Amino acid sequence: MSTVSTEKDTVSTLSDSIQKTPRPLQVAKRLEKFKTTIFTQMSNLAIKHGAINLGQGFPNFDGPEFVKEAAIQAIKDGKNQYARGYGVQELNNAIAERFKKDTGLAVDPEKEVTVTSGCTEAIAATILGLINPGDEVILFAPFYDSYEATLSMAGANVKCVTLRPPNFAVPINELKSAISKNTRAVLINTPHNPTGKMFTREEMNAIASICIENDVLVFTDEVYDKLAFEMDHISMASLPGMFERTVTMNSLGKTFSLTGWKIGWAIAPPHLTWGVRQAHAFLTFATSTPMQWATSVALRAPDSYYEELKRDYMKKKAILVEGLEAVGFKVFPSSGTYFVVVDHTPFGLENDIAFCEYLIEKVGVVAIPTSVFYLNPEDGKNLVRFTFCKDEETLKAAVKRMKEKLMRK
Ligand code: GLN
Repeated sequence: MSTVSTEKDTVSTLSDSIQKTPRPLQVAKRLEKFKTTIFTQMSNLAIKHGAINLGQGFPNFDGPEFVKEAAIQAIKDGKNQYARGYGVQELNNAIAERFKKDTGLAVDPEKEVTVTSGCTEAIAATILGLINPGDEVILFAPFYDSYEATLSMAGANVKCVTLRPPNFAVPINELKSAISKNTRAVLINTPHNPTGKMFTREEMNAIASICIENDVLVFTDEVYDKLAFEMDHISMASLPGMFERTVTMNSLGKTFSLTGWKIGWAIAPPHLTWGVRQAHAFLTFATSTPMQWATSVALRAPDSYYEELKRDYMKKKAILVEGLEAVGFKVFPSSGTYFVVVDHTPFGLENDIAFCEYLIEKVGVVAIPTSVFYLNPEDGKNLVRFTFCKDEETLKAAVKRMKEKLMRK
């Protein structure tokens, strides 16, 4: 039996087991087609099989002391009641300062910055606050799973343009043909999860002019912007004419190795911020107060913090990439994020799910099958994603297991 669910999951609750009457699971139509997220499934399997988890993207090391201390201090200082809905003033200011440093754009922290519960909530608030049922939104596949689920909750029509290996370049002509009079927004993610691709300046310019020409918005998920290794990160909002039609989303989690804190934000001109804030007000109302204070301290970290983060990750990336190549995978180039995508077909398994199951059960390593990131799962059947946001010993141990137990067919 398959351990990775491709059907709707069934769960038995305590009362079920007492009454012995299995009840059909209930879910609203807007979420019917979605399963337990692949990240949850794979992390559960990692625990069950004692496998090394290079699947879900969370560091197995802790965030910096100065940020943790700032959170403890904020709690002790009594910063514990509801925060202002759109963010603690100190954090809105720190986000605006950071954005100015990164992009050169001066934004108004009071009118153009909204603090959310992680980038996932920024995505939800943006989509639910700005997209009407029947609006079309274009995604680039493979795409992060929450985009499609949230678009479905908003009643949007999802259209997809596929980025293909080896370079995952943007097929500009396909994007042009995908745009229709009903297209309201294009959602981009650079550096890109799962491929590690970074959108080039040419691609960004081409997307920008298509969006301006057709009066389309851009929602941009930039949570991996500080993990840009092979080229400089470019923010869509910084391109000429784009700020007024762009919502830029980011978060604390990846940059500060604190994925459990769930502090994110959306930056947009006031007319778009209005929609984002209206949705945010009724999704979560406000975000954890002491963690917002601590995030304001984090974002003012000296440049040396960001340089060291990048240096550490480049070492980890080299261990994983060289290891995967030595094992016999075809490894696709990754310019940013803490992910790499490989072609698993040299090992003779029929698809990505079968390969990941084999890898967990027989080798003791967890990766993420990528077919779940496509509207058409077939497109991802040869590809799996590994993360290198783990300490060097863990990465080396995973490579060792694969070298010993994975055989090319
Ligand atoms: N963003 C992380 C990843 O892609 C984790 C996502 C999650 O667990 N929902 O692995």
